[in-house]
Amino acid sequence: MEKGNLVTIASYANPFEAELAKSLLEDYGFDVVLQNERIMSIYPSIAGDMYMIQLQVPEDREEEAKRIITDLEDTDYVSRILSQENALLEGHFSLTSGKHSSRYIEKIKVLQNPHAAHDLCKRLAARLEDYQFDCVVGPAYGGIVLAFETAYLLGKGFVFTQRKDDKMSIRSGFDLSRVRKVAIIEDILTTGGSVNEVIQCLSEAGIEVSVIGVLVDRSGGKIQFTAPLESLLSLEIPTWEADDCELCKQGVPLTKPGSSDKKS
Ligand SMILES: [Zn+2]
Repeated sequence: MEKGNLVTIASYANPFEAELAKSLLEDYGFDVVLQNERIMSIYPSIAGDMYMIQLQVPEDREEEAKRIITDLEDTDYVSRILSQENALLEGHFSLTSGKHSSRYIEKIKVLQNPHAAHDLCKRLAARLEDYQFDCVVGPAYGGIVLAFETAYLLGKGFVFTQRKDDKMSIRSGFDLSRVRKVAIIEDILTTGGSVNEVIQCLSEAGIEVSVIGVLVDRSGGKIQFTAPLESLLSLEIPTWEADDCELCKQGVPLTKPGSSDKKS
């Protein structure tokens, strides 16, 4: 079989990361080549050879392979940020939806480190840049910071929504008269409820949603919207109905995270 030209789509200093990326692409049916490239050290005091491992794929599937590698890097990066900021909690939690879960993402911890939040927004911005929109919308509160930073990075406008009298609405005072298409940014996607409320309130204002970007999709890809979803990390976190919870049966103490901040 004739093979096309190979192109390098990523470079790795760590051979394990290179092998991981290679096996992932092979699972998708790619012909992958790892190529060692010797790097001349710029510091004469560093002895020995330095190699970067080049990940190569056939030229005609370059874009497709890059997309898979970007997904892998985003996943890895977000997982690292969450664990570095101690945002991924293990235990027995009662969620806002009323369901119980063994893991909880304390998303506010990520926002406490603006540098980490900025880096996450850079990745969100890269995932959104090919979509057409004039403005980035975030639901209060977590979505505000992320939508603002992502809008800034992409050179777009920014607005936020909030619940007023139990109805999601665009914060009064924002001028949307020139906005036609938007991207929605949310921190964690659990049931998709608030994103759907944002879509609804925008559609009432005659505004179309081009894409939805989230840091973490807790549904593991199960939730679908009327617009494409870009998530940096997809995590399938087991949840149970409160009256059929594995952890309740085992007698594990239940915690209700963030409850002290929520008005009924
Ligand atoms: Zn339980």
